[in-house]
Amino acid sequence: MSSRDHLFKVLVVGDAAVGKTSLVQRYSQDSFSKHYKSTVGVDFALKVLQWSDSEMVRLQLWDIADEQSEALKPWLIQSHIDGQERFTSMTRLYYRDASACVIMFDVTNATTFSNSQKWKQDLDSKLTLPNGEPVPCLLLANKCDLSPWAVSRDQVDRFSKENGFTGWTETSVKENKNINEAMRVLIEKMMSNSREDMSLSTQGNYINLQTKPSSSWACC
Ligand code: GDP
Ligand code: MG
Repeated sequence: MSSRDHLFKVLVVGDAAVGKTSLVQRYSQDSFSKHYKSTVGVDFALKVLQWSDSEMVRLQLWDIADEQSEALKPWLIQSHIDGQERFTSMTRLYYRDASACVIMFDVTNATTFSNSQKWKQDLDSKLTLPNGEPVPCLLLANKCDLSPWAVSRDQVDRFSKENGFTGWTETSVKENKNINEAMRVLIEKMMSNSREDMSLSTQGNYINLQTKPSSSWACC
């Protein structure tokens, strides 16, 4: 990987059936299917973009199970550190070292909209940038090809501002509407965060080797 390559881990969360798996498939493979199996555990997809003449961006998209983190909790990963046996919940592994998040809801389903707040709070309680700021997080009002909407645009707008989202937009994974554009906004935010990290590293500050870089994905 050259120095102008950027690798980011991006989480895709939200209630069951809002379109998370469809989004990941659409964005990484440019395909859409009406029939998706319920995701079991966590699926990964890689999206590679030529960001500029000299920069590549690789996004590792983490698609969480429909059963949500509840179902993942009993799923413990065993590891050996310092000769000691430890257990890490899948939930922790899922959130670890992520640079950004996409929270989706279904515009025809008000419950999925109100649950977006729980997803955001869950995210912010488990993950922050090294400077303590919340990680960039987009709110996607998906299935905008359907009507009627169960929430108004004003409601979504207020909700997005009140809950500290980077921004929101309506999307249709089915019709491929606003997907690339929304992800581009997220990448720009991650790129500017990683540039801030780099500028910090040239200020002669003490380098805390205990701190993991959170703006790039590190293998667990
Ligand atoms: P997940 O449980 O959040 O991963 O949701 P899926 O990606 O499995 O999608 C659930 C259902 O919604 C599937 O039947 C998809 O085809 C459908 N779906 C996803 N995105 C859209 C969309 O933008 N518009 C419409 N009409 N249906 C969608
Ligand atoms: Mg799914």
